[in-house]
Amino acid sequence: MSKNIQKICWSVTLFLILNPVISIAALVLYLVFSNQYTGSEVLWISVFGLVFGFLTNLSITMGYHRLFSHRSFEAHPILQNILLFISAGAFQGSALKWSSDHRIHHRYEDTDRDPYSINRGFWHAHMGWMMKDETVSLPIVARDLEKNKWVMNQHNYYGYWSIGVGYILPTIVGALLGNAFLGLVIAGGLRIFLTQQSTFLVNSLSHTLGKTPYSTQKTAKDSIIVAILTHGEGYHNFHHQFQIDYRNGIRWYHWDPTKWSIQLAALLGLAKKLKTVQFSEILRARLQTETEKFYQSKFYEEKLQPVYERIVQSQIRFEQLKKEYQVASREKMDQIKAEMQLAQIEFQANMKMWKVLIRTAQRSNYLA
Ligand SMILES: [Zn+2]
Ligand SMILES: [Zn+2]
Repeated sequence: MSKNIQKICWSVTLFLILNPVISIAALVLYLVFSNQYTGSEVLWISVFGLVFGFLTNLSITMGYHRLFSHRSFEAHPILQNILLFISAGAFQGSALKWSSDHRIHHRYEDTDRDPYSINRGFWHAHMGWMMKDETVSLPIVARDLEKNKWVMNQHNYYGYWSIGVGYILPTIVGALLGNAFLGLVIAGGLRIFLTQQSTFLVNSLSHTLGKTPYSTQKTAKDSIIVAILTHGEGYHNFHHQFQIDYRNGIRWYHWDPTKWSIQLAALLGLAKKLKTVQFSEILRARLQTETEKFYQSKFYEEKLQPVYERIVQSQIRFEQLKKEYQVASREKMDQIKAEMQLAQIEFQANMKMWKVLIRTAQRSNYLA
């Protein structure tokens, strides 16, 4: 046996290949040769598969990723268990193992120690890493999660959870909708395949396609296309720079269903302590990245640097005043409000200057 074959993790590799191949082949053969089904059964089971697929994706992005890997918010045990239950049916390993691997990915991004480093190629980052013993069998390092009894329950009984939620549950729902077999292949196998691919894109396409507004030192990218394909995880440049933030798309209109779901959970009392990075910090990273190409020029030092300082300082001032306002006495409120307005005007005026200077620099010879 060659050395490369010995290094393959066969259990994961066979599952990743056989699940979609068997599901798609069985579905096509059944639809073509069987007369045991009706059009409405196919329709309703597909609708259920889509909803279940949406929830499966969400349980990974909201649960495995933003809650367990990054602890970007706190979840009520009810929500934790719902997320752990649904995500088991995604066949992406237990929350404990997934989160441990993901934290290693962040800590050692783009280096040899990053299990799904994009520098080892698109295929490796997408799925290849799970097929190799060396990268898929990294030891678990997540002390906090090992103390969480719900997470450990899912981890210790993962085999039962995954088969139960991944295949048996959709078969039962399929039977209730009139066709157990279609439930198994559409809402079971096919849904697992599609939701896995959505998650895998975060490791491959999110490190390949898009812009780098917050850091050019990392391969992680921001892309609306990837955000749509991955439940909002496509703002990956931001995420790698500010992993503690529960949002990936920071503007309210950024396509990030995971962020909206966390906000909804908070409204329902199932989530609390949603962590966000101060806007002044985000602004600092964005403006610094924007000016990187001007670092070598005198233009940056003389013109852009002071404007940059004023923008960041006026934003910091605004944030401080906002905190003061929340605990201020009645008499002080008006005064603080006026100061906040002044800070905002200063911020906006300097942002305008910034845009003019950047445009001028791009047109002239100031590019380094
Ligand atoms: Zn992450
Ligand atoms: Zn990443």
